[in-house]
Amino acid sequence: MTVVGRIAPSPTGQLHLGHARSFLLAWWSARAQGGRVVLRIDDLDPQRTVPGSADRILEDLSWLGLDWDGAPLYQSTRTKAYDDALGRLERQGALYPCVCTRKEIASAVSAPHDTDGEMPYPGTCLRDPSRADQAPAGSKALRYRVVRGPIGWRDRLMGPVEVDVARTAGDFVVARRDGVASYQLATAVDDAYQGVTEVVRGEDLMPSAARQMLLARDLGLTIPEQAHVRLVVDHRGERLAKRDGAVTLGELRRAGVTPERICQWAARSAGLTATAQPRPAKFWVSQPMIESEVAGPVRLPLRLSEDL
Ligand code: GLU
Repeated sequence: MTVVGRIAPSPTGQLHLGHARSFLLAWWSARAQGGRVVLRIDDLDPQRTVPGSADRILEDLSWLGLDWDGAPLYQSTRTKAYDDALGRLERQGALYPCVCTRKEIASAVSAPHDTDGEMPYPGTCLRDPSRADQAPAGSKALRYRVVRGPIGWRDRLMGPVEVDVARTAGDFVVARRDGVASYQLATAVDDAYQGVTEVVRGEDLMPSAARQMLLARDLGLTIPEQAHVRLVVDHRGERLAKRDGAVTLGELRRAGVTPERICQWAARSAGLTATAQPRPAKFWVSQPMIESEVAGPVRLPLRLSEDL
């Protein structure tokens, strides 16, 4: 079976080192197995999509030395596929409409549940369908009813993982009130559509993996192998985020940092054989796959200009 990896950036701003590392590892993994790499632009949410960002991301990826097979798939062109999937789930009785606001949910739940502050949906609209019956169109989201217990899988990097979606997220949104499909639904549908056999991405998406598996199973879609990589943190130990002004690839490039040095840093951080000389991305394809990912966050290089 041919391995198909994927790179799936969201065009909501510029790429930083954390993205670069995840994408390099995804690309190295697939290419090292002689596999294909597909590119998807997760531009599902028109409110979060930044004009021009997708083109800049494509440029940054090429600059890093990454390539992909076929044309990029833009999620904004896939509305019909998501609607079809929603229709199928609806016919299975797996969905219900919900009119709860964030505020209502927050006040119905005593405390944030997860470390990321996510609160499980308390089931208000499931227990009282009349709320949604009376609400006007355009004010109803669709939730997927979680009826299964914990979902377990063997993550290639994190080992055995178990996520109890009912406890951590509860019934989760698969279509927003404005009709836009959720990230979870679109990812499950598109990973299958693009023939993806392995997903390599940041460990912050592990809770999402479980939701995507639930949907994929109900939709009869294949579930790719999962490999969640460690996140890159800044010098305060906090996760890099675009909004905190994390150094972007564009800035590094303008400061004279070469893609070879970024590749070297990412390879070393993942336990691939370090080289004295910076090398382009394709150099590491012949190295053993990222087996040495261990628990704990990856730190940024101390001095960006010198350590990179
Ligand atoms: N587009 C998502 C992001 O940039 C990643 C989606 C995924 O890898 O499943 O956070």
